[in-house]
Amino acid sequence: MFEKTGIPSKEMIMEKFPPIERINEGPVAVVECYQKIPCNPCQTACKFNAIIVGEDINNIPEFYPNKCTGCALCLSKCPGLSIIVVDGSKSKDRVEVRLPYEFLPLPEEGQIVKGLDREGEYITDVKVIKVLNPKSFDRTPIITIEVDRRFLYTIRNISVEA
Ligand code: SF4
Ligand code: SF4
Repeated sequence: MFEKTGIPSKEMIMEKFPPIERINEGPVAVVECYQKIPCNPCQTACKFNAIIVGEDINNIPEFYPNKCTGCALCLSKCPGLSIIVVDGSKSKDRVEVRLPYEFLPLPEEGQIVKGLDREGEYITDVKVIKVLNPKSFDRTPIITIEVDRRFLYTIRNISVEA
């Protein structure tokens, strides 16, 4: 299925998520890189050695959640938009998710937008908490959204109506 559609299975996704205990401690990356490709800006971006591609640039990155601070610096550096940051420490009912977003218009802070799954299907409305778009992100803004905890493993993108 993944080879044909590019959409990972539930099992593939769950293998990439850190344990829920780590997510509930504070922000942590989810590195959804599934294929061997010659690429490693994630490793270069991470000052905490939480992502290691290693000597062979084709390696699938290894991720070490306990080294990750959730700084999100790797998000805008990944050309595949493969990395998000999740944070379950703020609330019992909701999680915060930071994701790279390259479409226009950008949402505004406080705006309610559509939350989409990995297939681009609507799953729930989400609230935009923060929009970061400095020059150093090189046109890959980072959007922080607040989402019902039930959608922690399915939320992957947003859709903003003009
Ligand atoms: S979120 Fe920050 S600490 Fe975590 S992997 Fe990315 S760059 Fe490294
Ligand atoms: S930068 Fe992104 S696409 Fe490239 S190896 Fe890292 S996670 Fe995978």
